[in-house]
Amino acid sequence: MIVDFHCHAGTGDRLTSPWTTRAPLSSYLRRAAAAGIQRTVVLPAGHNDYAAANEELARIVAQHRPRLIGFGGVHAEQDAGRVQEILLRAVELGFRGVKVHCADARPTREVCDAARDLGLPVLMDVTGKPSVIDLVAPEYPMVIFIIAHLGSFVDDWRAQQQVVDQLVRYANVYADTSGVRRFDYLLQAIRRAGAGKLLFGSDGPWLHPAVELHKIRMLKLPIEAESLVAGGNALRILKKASLVSEKSAHRAAAWR
Ligand SMILES: [Zn+2]
Repeated sequence: MIVDFHCHAGTGDRLTSPWTTRAPLSSYLRRAAAAGIQRTVVLPAGHNDYAAANEELARIVAQHRPRLIGFGGVHAEQDAGRVQEILLRAVELGFRGVKVHCADARPTREVCDAARDLGLPVLMDVTGKPSVIDLVAPEYPMVIFIIAHLGSFVDDWRAQQQVVDQLVRYANVYADTSGVRRFDYLLQAIRRAGAGKLLFGSDGPWLHPAVELHKIRMLKLPIEAESLVAGGNALRILKKASLVSEKSAHRAAAWR
């Protein structure tokens, strides 16, 4: 099964760029279906109120079940003091992970503690500053961190090289391939960290999922390795998350 681990959906309220304004899915859904992508992890667009964005995202996911899988957004600074509550609600909404964008704020202990307690994987955009991974990954070995864009959406080769090193060093660190243009870093990640550490992602709806998927094909991996990158790794991470989150949802219901 092919799983796109990085796509956005819903409206943003900042109006500073396309990805903080609106993530319309209609073209994406058509393109992804034509490319054979069967499941897609969707994240909110950039927002100043992720609690509201998560509610909207849940309504979109409900319209496309089981094809879409939601990850809840949280802002480590603006949501300080209520991160646990927002993520408990995300679990109740059926979400299977959390998205943290370091352009909002770097992950705090509050965010990492909540992700650990709720069993949620953290998809993290480190915006070219992967040193944060050296702090959170060893401190939270039970939390799975997936580093968006191999560390940089804007082709920062130093950041991508550093993330490849971190994939080798930390068992709980993975990376997605969305928007990565410097192809040899993807090859290096596979050769050094193994096919079990890389996840196909498109950064749809702004990037074309078939173009992004073609990069995975161009890695020319043995069939088993390609299927891990194209979806197997994602399914394993999501399955683990759903088992833990199911228990957390019961706990959340009891806690309320
Ligand atoms: Zn993105």
